[in-house]
Amino acid sequence: MENLQFAEQLVPAFAPDKVAVRLGGRKNRRLSYATRHKVHLSREKLRDLIQPRFTYQIKAIQDNYRGRIILNDQTEFRSPKLARTLKESSQLVCFVATIGRGIEREIKKLMHLNQLSEAYILDAMGSVAIEDMVEKFQTRMTAELGKKRLKSTLRFSPGYCDWPITQQQQLFALLNTDDIGVKLTDSCLMSPRKSISGVFGITSRKADPYNPCGDCRKTGCEARRSRPASG
Ligand code: SF4
Repeated sequence: MENLQFAEQLVPAFAPDKVAVRLGGRKNRRLSYATRHKVHLSREKLRDLIQPRFTYQIKAIQDNYRGRIILNDQTEFRSPKLARTLKESSQLVCFVATIGRGIEREIKKLMHLNQLSEAYILDAMGSVAIEDMVEKFQTRMTAELGKKRLKSTLRFSPGYCDWPITQQQQLFALLNTDDIGVKLTDSCLMSPRKSISGVFGITSRKADPYNPCGDCRKTGCEARRSRPASG
């Protein structure tokens, strides 16, 4: 698999149950009629506002020890949980995805007009959209890997779990993020906001999947995963 930008094939969906969860509810909870109507209107708007863009690289892992992953270009990632997840991986998929700035501008406009619930709904739908786009990318990649008897590990992003957000800098240094219009702020957050960066490993299909959440006692962690790995 080569480095491609195929964001147009990853056009995100806006699953209603995920939007409901983002709006502060539970999965399978029905939204009120008024909210559903606003979600419907926002969906139309969002389709015109989003500009899905994506960049990724596949890097060889040279070493993995003491909670550090060293790539063959000497990039070093520090995260004991990521390192353990990648214990049997020889390659790492590094990516940044975005749905662009249009949605941010529209949210600002709605706030300015005091249309706060519309702004909140649009913001929630933007989060669902970018997550869906990344999920589609990994699913697509995992299907390709499956043809070679390989699979992908769980996905990690800087700033989540035990991976310091400052390591965004190392991740961004590997990718052509200027081409997709994503920049890092001084505090290593991404601009546009509706962007996701991350990595996942490539392992043999026989490798034991590892999910660090299984033996982690942290409560209320938004990044907790129940499934061991995709693929
Ligand atoms: S629950 Fe999972 S994602 Fe959260 S800190 Fe623990 S290992 Fe990391």
